[in-house]
Amino acid sequence: MGVSILLEPTYNRRMSHSDKTVVVVGAGVAGLACAGKLRSLLPDAKLILLEKSDHAGGILQTHRESKYLVELAADMFTTEPNDALMLCRSLGHETDLLTTTPVKQRAYVATKDSIEPVPAGFSLMLPANQEAVRATKILDNEGITRLLSEVNVPPATELHDEDFQSFVVRRFGQQAFERLVQPLVSGIYTADPRKLSMRATMQRFIDMEREHGSLIAASLAAKASSADRAASGARYDLFRTPRDGMGSLVNWLVDAADTADLRFNWPVERIELRPNNRWVIHSSQSNDEPVDADAVIVATPVSSASQMLSSVSRSLSDQLSAIKSASCAVVSLAFDVNQLRRPFDGYGIVVPAFLKRKLIAASFSSNKFPGRAPENKVLIRCFVGGAMQGELVDLSDRQLVELALAELNQLIGIDGVPELDFVCCWKNAMPQYHVGHLDRVEAIETELDSFPTLAVAGNAYRGVGIPVCIRSGITAAAEIAESLLNN
Ligand SMILES: Cc1cc2nc3c(=O)[nH]c(=O)nc-3n(C[C@H](O)[C@H](O)[C@H](O)COP(=O)(O)OP(=O)(O)OC[C@H]3O[C@@H](n4cnc5c(N)ncnc54)[C@H](O)[C@@H]3O)c2cc1C
Repeated sequence: MGVSILLEPTYNRRMSHSDKTVVVVGAGVAGLACAGKLRSLLPDAKLILLEKSDHAGGILQTHRESKYLVELAADMFTTEPNDALMLCRSLGHETDLLTTTPVKQRAYVATKDSIEPVPAGFSLMLPANQEAVRATKILDNEGITRLLSEVNVPPATELHDEDFQSFVVRRFGQQAFERLVQPLVSGIYTADPRKLSMRATMQRFIDMEREHGSLIAASLAAKASSADRAASGARYDLFRTPRDGMGSLVNWLVDAADTADLRFNWPVERIELRPNNRWVIHSSQSNDEPVDADAVIVATPVSSASQMLSSVSRSLSDQLSAIKSASCAVVSLAFDVNQLRRPFDGYGIVVPAFLKRKLIAASFSSNKFPGRAPENKVLIRCFVGGAMQGELVDLSDRQLVELALAELNQLIGIDGVPELDFVCCWKNAMPQYHVGHLDRVEAIETELDSFPTLAVAGNAYRGVGIPVCIRSGITAAAEIAESLLNN
């Protein structure tokens, strides 16, 4: 039986029974998706989910306070790739998903002394609407001319994994990189642009360059629809979120894992492979009995995965530990609409690194999705830290609130203090896909070939977004089910 037919992001394909014990370590979205898929593929298997913290969902958490709905990390998933959407559909929850609230101008970028709308049709680095680029105030005339001359820049001849900064400067010039593309992309990856791998994160732009000679030629060839030509920043029309927040997605996945034995406060310290090919999973807490299993899926952050697998394979553990992660803080602030000195109807503002401010981006939750704030109130999530300013995450909550407030005040003008503040720090939660990342992931996969009943899943490998995390869990479940069914 081929693994491919097991890979669909749905849980309704029951295939065969098994009396095996399978352990999933880590109950983030990847681990939960994996457990749900295992439950449907191996309905009679004993399924145990070991989670270090006291809750499911990992970094996906929704906080409710005074009629505000505050997302502590992710606030949406995209429908491309469609793994998250398909999963919600298969679980009967597609109608519980919201799309973004329509607004006139979606994304803004900070300039030295103002904020300016991202040119219509400019999506990450794809200028679908050249007239809008000509009219932007983000770049000067020289910068605009250089950006639009991208169509004449010959495609790269070498096929090496290029870093993001080099790719964008080569194609669009330094100014477009610094003032426009870097902040748009950093809002997603919070990465060092000199290290971020184009191949691992934005392969579609490499493909456009190769196939069409330039990104502008590719966008012309695509004959972008009028809707695409108006969209700017990210592809907001692809965004979905559960009506009651990302915590609902976690609950749906926990329900789908059905009878899985979900053990909280169970920090896995070490995984061991016995000579009889059975796995033993040890907790760092002496009162937890070791768990014996036929197969293990490790769906924790990559640094934990590296540590717990060190006695299984030193080389596998080393490859995992070479994937570094960055930290960031999400500072949520709420205001009365009258506290904003001028109305702001966009989804957010991204801040270029060259301005040396202390904010990566501000996301206006209450403009993006309905039900995030009471009437006439504004909820803003400020992102601080990332690979370039990781030290800021060590500030106290009070300092982070003051910092975010000062930065917002500079960008849009705010009177008084927020009526709600909520700080969440995510230490080493954002894997960095540095140049060479995909080679490293392939090396990890090759190492894993020696252990057919061991798999890894999560955001460190083939994508950080929720759909790809879900896919990684489902893929791991399919591989393990295949392996157990064949033995
Ligand atoms: C601030 C922020 C905003 C984001 N926004 C978006 C967004 O809007 N849309 C989007 O698609 N993506 C977004 N992402 C990315 C996405 O949310 C994550 O990549 C994804 O949720 C990670 O899921 P995961 O299951 O791989 O890992 P995690 O959520 O980190 O889950 C791993 C689990 O493993 C557990 N664990 C760790 N060590 C052990 C151990 N030793 N033993 C047992 N359990 C252990 C942890 O407690 C945790 O529950 C965002 C990320 C961040 C940080």
